[in-house]
Amino acid sequence: MAERLAAGSGKKVLIVDKRPHIGGNAYDHYDEAGILVHKYGPHIFHTNSREVFDYLSRFTGWRPYQHRVRACVDGQLLPIPINLDTINLLYGLNLTSFQLDEFFQSVAEPRSQIRTSEDVIVSKVGRELYEKFFRNYTRKQWDLDPSELDASVTARVPVRTNRDDRYFSDTYQAMPLHGYSRMFERMLTHPNIKIMLNTDYREIEQVIPFGEMIYTGPVDEYFDFRFGKLPYRSLEFRFETYERPVFQDAPVVNYPNENPYTRCTEFKYLTGQEHAKTTVVYEYPRGDGDPYYPVPRPENAAIYREYQALAERTPGVHFCGRLATYKYYNMDQVVAQSLTLYKTLIGARRPRAIAQTA
Ligand code: UDP
Repeated sequence: MAERLAAGSGKKVLIVDKRPHIGGNAYDHYDEAGILVHKYGPHIFHTNSREVFDYLSRFTGWRPYQHRVRACVDGQLLPIPINLDTINLLYGLNLTSFQLDEFFQSVAEPRSQIRTSEDVIVSKVGRELYEKFFRNYTRKQWDLDPSELDASVTARVPVRTNRDDRYFSDTYQAMPLHGYSRMFERMLTHPNIKIMLNTDYREIEQVIPFGEMIYTGPVDEYFDFRFGKLPYRSLEFRFETYERPVFQDAPVVNYPNENPYTRCTEFKYLTGQEHAKTTVVYEYPRGDGDPYYPVPRPENAAIYREYQALAERTPGVHFCGRLATYKYYNMDQVVAQSLTLYKTLIGARRPRAIAQTA
């Protein structure tokens, strides 16, 4: 939003962030060993939107990267999303795609309505695979049973009958060549953009005059929780550097059924960096801490609708991003949402008003 408003329409922009750095949760940096890591857990860029990809390409080159994940199940590292190899390795079979399709049909539990995250998986691959790959991972990550979460959560992970073991199937899959922070720095290098770090916007909103605000924090916090607290899920990250070039067999290993952490990510696979050492991050789900995920379920959607209605009646403030619109958005969806909001703001305003609020 800052880049568009400044470079696209000559606005003066002040970015206020309570953290000591830009880039939000996509921030990356070099750790003590000199390895590029993502401070807030693995961020892997993928999109089907040509517009989003072209827009970001103005600020970064790319390293083509197709993400792959293994799940540790019954003592083996198996491809997730579940595919032909997952099933053949898990059960010691030699099925074809066609036979796997028949197998899924024989074990799937028909559901008249796909409402929850349990319905999505059980209706496709049956209860046993659901228990091995999804139930416990989801309980650990969300502290809720999949039956208590919207279908959209586990529907993020497809089921395949071929051997495609990529985590995503989007048209554009790549990592910013020099990292996310460098990309954001280039977006924000504009004479109209000033940056104020280590500052809660509430400390300065009465002091620094402004025409309009783009708010990207939690929407319930903005309105002093007047309709109650919206639940956000958090994570604690444990980084470990090992004195060897490679630590694990895949970029990410998921641990649905053991360990208190959900997954372990080895950054060098993502970034392509070459280094004698390697750094990984373990993710421990938490109820308290920085808000990272909205919790998609009907009762939370109902609370959010109240905040959303209020947000729409709040002139001069525009809510954008995962926390402010309470949507489990990927990075590309946030970029798309921002580009749309920008167009709305610019399209909606007559030139005279722009001059007044600039
Ligand atoms: N999930 C799971 N087992 C897995 C991978 C994912 O049960 O091996 C479920 C879990 O509920 C998770 C959701 O699918 O929160 C979405 O997974 P994704 O990898 O998209 O999560 P994110 O990367 O956003 O944390």
